[in-house]
Amino acid sequence: MTKTSHREIAQTASPRPPAIFIADALSLDFLNSVATPLDTEIDWIDDGEGLLAWLEQAKLVPAETLETLRARAMPGEFDNVAAQARSLREWFRGFVRQRKGRPLTSADLSELEPLNRLLERDEGFGRIVAHDHGRASGLEFRTMRRWRSPEALLLPIGEALAKFVCEEDFSNVKACEGPACTLMFADHTRGRARRWCSMAICGNRAKQSAHRHRLKMQQ
Ligand SMILES: [Zn+2]
Repeated sequence: MTKTSHREIAQTASPRPPAIFIADALSLDFLNSVATPLDTEIDWIDDGEGLLAWLEQAKLVPAETLETLRARAMPGEFDNVAAQARSLREWFRGFVRQRKGRPLTSADLSELEPLNRLLERDEGFGRIVAHDHGRASGLEFRTMRRWRSPEALLLPIGEALAKFVCEEDFSNVKACEGPACTLMFADHTRGRARRWCSMAICGNRAKQSAHRHRLKMQQ
């Protein structure tokens, strides 16, 4: 994609372009919800509306739930939750940056206390629901959540972060090699050879500069 078309997207329709989901791990996509895809930093969750839009794009909260919460909330209520989400994000960024490249151990648990405190607030419950995968219909156990307050929007994020620290091998967690890029991802490629957040953002830039370098050498 060219620079111009990126800019055009940013200026039309909504104040923010669609959020970036390139990390192959939702928790790292959450860290990537502030980024500088071109020259200007964009924080996708810099206010309440941004947070709701990001949660919907991340499929962490059903659209109907977001509508119900929107209808019940006082003006500015979600801005406060977005501020809490940003604190959670920056705290978690510190945790991940310090530990990426090696598996977590039980020694890392004490640092996760803030996340455990968030998880304690969850009012989840189980429910049997009908599912219909193709022709076979049946029953399925699903974890649901009570959405009593706007703060409840932090809970699915907390759950995603918790599952990530328990299930992801931090050896696979990498920062993009783009010189000015802050994006992180989990490298699940065979041979663990992934270097870039995406070809569109940093991979092509690197290729072009290598190409320019080669041309210079030939002259
Ligand atoms: Zn990058």
